[in-house]
Amino acid sequence: MRKAIFPGSFDPFTIGHYDVLESALKLFDKIYIAIGYNSTKERNGYFTLQQRIEIIKAATAHLSGIEICTYPDLTIDLCRRLGVQCIIRGLRTTTDFELESVIAQANKKMYPDVVSLFIPASQEYSFISSTVVRDVLIHGGDASLFLPRGVDLSILK
Ligand code: ADP
Repeated sequence: MRKAIFPGSFDPFTIGHYDVLESALKLFDKIYIAIGYNSTKERNGYFTLQQRIEIIKAATAHLSGIEICTYPDLTIDLCRRLGVQCIIRGLRTTTDFELESVIAQANKKMYPDVVSLFIPASQEYSFISSTVVRDVLIHGGDASLFLPRGVDLSILK
């Protein structure tokens, strides 16, 4: 079975993340959507881990081959635990590429069997980030334009 992980903060999971996931599903039978968190902070991020999970569940309910998990340590440690050798990351801009290539090289150094796969953002979603979504929400705007179909933030506790 071809397996990969799609790691991120996903605070929250956006339509841009969903677009990358859909592309990755054409290549892999199973994808772990892995929410990284900092175990030394009591609360990190805008949404709680449980809320982030609920959002991803709602966005991916109709898909098969998806598993959602959380991890407090290095992405390569999660890869080792899951027996996965491919890390998927999305690229929007050259800035993303510069940051991501450094991370990919560090990961390869620490875990030579790992391969990072970069999937370019679709043009219509390339401006979307979790930060934009959070800003819209903080100022009372309608974030549904930037969220995957099926995600209704009003159901979150
Ligand atoms: P992180 O904090 O690890 O960067 P994010 O949740 O912000 O996590 O993003 C996870 C991955 O998704 C990253 O590779 C990021 O570049 C990518 N990504 C974020 N938004 C988009 C988008 N609109 N289109 C394509 N890739 C995206």
